[in-house]
Amino acid sequence: MRTETLLVTTGKDPERFEGMVNPPIYQSSTILFPTIEAYHAAGHGKDYYTKPTGTFSDPSYGITGTPTSFALAEGLSALEGGGQTFLYPSGLSAITSTLLSFVKTGDHILVVDSAYGPTRRFCNYELKRLGIETTYYDPCIGEDISRLVKSNTSLVLTESPGSLTFEIQDIPLISRCIKSVQPHCVVAMDNSWATPLYYKAFDHGVDVVIHALTKYVGGHSDLILGSVTAKHPYSERLFHHYRHAGLCIAPHDAYTALRGLRTLAARMKSHDQAAREIASWLSTRPEVSLVLHPALPCHPGHELWKRDFTGSSGLFTFILHEQEKAKIYRFINTLKFFGIGSSWGGYESLIIDFDPTPIRTASPWGYKGTCIRLHIGLESPDDLIEDLSQAMKIAL
Ligand SMILES: *Cc1c(COP(=O)(O)O)cnc(C)c1O
Repeated sequence: MRTETLLVTTGKDPERFEGMVNPPIYQSSTILFPTIEAYHAAGHGKDYYTKPTGTFSDPSYGITGTPTSFALAEGLSALEGGGQTFLYPSGLSAITSTLLSFVKTGDHILVVDSAYGPTRRFCNYELKRLGIETTYYDPCIGEDISRLVKSNTSLVLTESPGSLTFEIQDIPLISRCIKSVQPHCVVAMDNSWATPLYYKAFDHGVDVVIHALTKYVGGHSDLILGSVTAKHPYSERLFHHYRHAGLCIAPHDAYTALRGLRTLAARMKSHDQAAREIASWLSTRPEVSLVLHPALPCHPGHELWKRDFTGSSGLFTFILHEQEKAKIYRFINTLKFFGIGSSWGGYESLIIDFDPTPIRTASPWGYKGTCIRLHIGLESPDDLIEDLSQAMKIAL
């Protein structure tokens, strides 16, 4: 079955739901059992550690999930090519729960220097407080990552491309190098940019793959949700942490994400095509010094992207020569079709300016000029180009 068909058919069971094409939203804390024997057989009151393998397929209490969240988890696992999927109330909590699942006091972890900002904050404050040391590494470090591995290194976090600065990481190489020094070290990846459609993390040496479903899976800027997918034995540790910490998601959010999943392939195709068109146009403009879009041949990570990815999404950065804040702000404020706001992955185009200089500690930012990040939504790319063009004419 191809991905497009999988997205439409996954998690469907109309016979079970009175013929309903979509699994309904189950709003429940208590689940009733016909007999007290059945109640005990469902595992109530048992220590989860007594179960060697975690499974969510039998709901026994609201916190263990609903048929709606099982359908979503099943779909995400199928897209990744196997494993078990855990659902979290946000993308950030999916990342932080992954870290907490695999580290203990005294450990050391490696985190990519281009990581999502709040991920760094969690490492610098919360993990530090627990006695876990973080070393940031250059996203383009390659095999030199081996030199950063210590005897207590338990996890390496990757993110490719960086969601502001767009470095493509050689994850298969990083994974091989790490495993040759430290076979039990967990290789985790934040794969939100490419979605499971355009980067098959398990095929590239990743053990634990994280998604901010808030972004492309949700797709409509009306959802905050995260997921983590892993195979045995990594799934067991995730399961225990998930259950011990009391994590779960709201049934309506599971439904919303599942609805987003149905149209993901069609939307991604549009985002991809329009973003490439706009990135190419920007690269011809005299106001622009550089476009950081991995699908453009001028991108330093283009060859790696071509080797490992099967598509690109709607998020990329370009650098303007102009450095005067007033002019930059006028440019952004003059745009009609680009919303000014955080996040991305929705149907609408967004713009922000940012400065990577103070964020990075392992790999200094080498480019001059002003960084502008665009998310290209589902509008006509012609309208977006006209909009960018008129704002440049007025402001720059
Ligand atoms: C937005 C984002 C997250 C966090 O997702 P939330 O659901 O907003 O917490 C994680 N990683 C990346 C790369 C993101 O862009």
